[in-house]
Amino acid sequence: MQTIDTYNFQGKRALIRVDFNVPLNDKFEITDDTRMRAAVPTIKKVLAGSGSVILMSHLGRPKKADVKFSLKHILKHLEELLDMPVKFADDCVGESAKKQASELKPGEVLLLENLRFYAEEEGKPRGLAEDASDEEKKAAKAAVKESQKKFVADLASLADVWINDAFGTAHRAHASTALIASYFQNDRMFGYVMEGELKAVDNVMKHPQRPFTAIMGGSKVSSKIDIIMNLMDKVDNLILGGGMTYTFKAALGGHVGASICETDKFDLALDIIRIAKEKGVNLVLSDQAVIGDSFSNDANVQICDPMNIPDGWEGLDVGPETRERFAGVIEQSKTILWNGPVGVFEMPKFAEGTKAVADAIVRATEQGAFSLIGGGDSVAAINQFGLADKVSYVSTGGGALLEYIEGKELPGITAIRG
Ligand code: AMP
Repeated sequence: MQTIDTYNFQGKRALIRVDFNVPLNDKFEITDDTRMRAAVPTIKKVLAGSGSVILMSHLGRPKKADVKFSLKHILKHLEELLDMPVKFADDCVGESAKKQASELKPGEVLLLENLRFYAEEEGKPRGLAEDASDEEKKAAKAAVKESQKKFVADLASLADVWINDAFGTAHRAHASTALIASYFQNDRMFGYVMEGELKAVDNVMKHPQRPFTAIMGGSKVSSKIDIIMNLMDKVDNLILGGGMTYTFKAALGGHVGASICETDKFDLALDIIRIAKEKGVNLVLSDQAVIGDSFSNDANVQICDPMNIPDGWEGLDVGPETRERFAGVIEQSKTILWNGPVGVFEMPKFAEGTKAVADAIVRATEQGAFSLIGGGDSVAAINQFGLADKVSYVSTGGGALLEYIEGKELPGITAIRG
């Protein structure tokens, strides 16, 4: 397999699938450029090797070509980050993109317009009537799959080498993330973002130093079940926090008041408790809750036993004793995976538990543990606490990371490895 460090880019045009799906405010200003900054080393590496770079990405979820979702909005910032001019192709395929790509000289960069201006990027039909019949849906799907072949070929014709550096979309078998691979049998590789992500996740999932602790939080157990089950074979300690706590407590016969609770998942919760016992996993559940009388930062607050929450009150964070228990387990760990806040951290009144988890992970990391934080809200939390640079790795890929941890094969990874 080729790697970005060994490949000879001299005179080659490299088509790099980046993840420039950055948040923009209503003035089209970038509010978080993390993903763009992450892509710079890969781009620079190709340029330093006397290659030229063609960047392709999606931005948002356009239903058609729509200037609101144009990558033009990020062009100036890209030029600042790279400290050089960047050309722009206002269509990602077609004659003009082809001409601009073919005229690129070594050391030059071209940014293509949003891939998702075409339904063919995702290969999903658009504009179907709501009352479309199954037959019509099937026909529309077949049509877009057919036209997708040409789209993929057109994209591939722009370059000599394909680099996938978009971990955030690695779980999707889209034109630019996976299907294009067949055009680059010997000239495809991961960029540095992908390499870094895979190394970090493999450190945790394939070669963990023990003890290995996973902390899973968030709102519902139903959305985390595949991950929890896959982790059961791997971890020594499994800390479960957040809203899902109350489904467990209720399943065990507790009274959880107005807490978030999935009454149809009691069997599942009891299964998790049983499997953890069978596999010798130390399952750590909260035994002290911070409860509020409304889902609000202005709520009245009490500390109570999560098995016995008064009516009209809901569990919104873990209490001080549970924070200490969680921290004790985390600080003795050598490998740590954290996904999901253990309380409603967005409200300062209920952020203490999540902060305590983050602080304990930082202390464990200082003592030599490898810590990986990933998946949406725990990344938001670690950033909110200003601790992102004090843990080993913060993943850029929400859904992709979670699917990888679930043990699923990611099309964007398979496409490169073959
Ligand atoms: P998820 O997307 O499932 O990872 O859930 C993340 C969300 O769970 C965050 O927005 C948290 O505010 C929320 N959350 C955490 N703990 C609780 C809780 N005890 N009750 C309700 N929501 C919670």
